[in-house]
Amino acid sequence: MKRLGIMGGTFDPIHYGHLVAAEMARAEFSLNKVLFIPSGTPPHKERSDITAAELRFEMVERAIQDNPAFEISALELRRIGPSYTVDTLRVLRRTWPEHELYFITGSDALRQIFSWREVEEILMMTKFIGAARPGFDARDFLLQVQKERPETQERIHYIEVPALAISSTDIRARVKRGQPIRYLLPEPVRLYIQQHGLYTAQVMSDKS
Ligand code: ATP
Ligand code: MG
Repeated sequence: MKRLGIMGGTFDPIHYGHLVAAEMARAEFSLNKVLFIPSGTPPHKERSDITAAELRFEMVERAIQDNPAFEISALELRRIGPSYTVDTLRVLRRTWPEHELYFITGSDALRQIFSWREVEEILMMTKFIGAARPGFDARDFLLQVQKERPETQERIHYIEVPALAISSTDIRARVKRGQPIRYLLPEPVRLYIQQHGLYTAQVMSDKS
């Protein structure tokens, strides 16, 4: 059985935190491939200023081009309306039948999974690899889960990755403030952000 890693996210923009987590998970779990799946319209749209899905997709393409084990999927991009992980996994199981699925998340996302739609179904379709993320220690969470739900024990794993306190939120704020983002994300992504004028304070034009 081959192993497919899945890295879902808004990727607004993609940064080294995502890439390091994916690469460490790939190596530690002998994943044959890691599929990056940028979200289309997020189900919990807490930000109204989210960058167009096509642009986020292109940034991911640029970020992963030099890793032969990384691939991108337009699965959620093309979906109209909100995307739920459970639906994405159903499609992936059909598309990659010879593969065992490993859903990679940061420790912040890992702590949320029991609130996800149809989590029982999700846990049957995929295993989880939670990657440590500064500020979000998930070990207590996992110990509690293992106590309350021993059947999930081999389904949810936790890995320590060299902690990168990088977030897309911080990168967007930096661009807005005119602070540097070099070395926080791959250079082709930084150039893309610059060329498209992403994350700069929007000058709202009320003159018509
Ligand atoms: P935002 O600040 O906009 O929420 P983000 O940096 O959290 O962006 P997302 O696109 O929300 O990035 O995250 C996609 C996935 O990557 C999530 O599972 C998240 O936990 C994980 N992730 C993001 N940053 C890191 C990091 N620095 N280390 C480990 N995992 C990360
Ligand atoms: Mg996030």
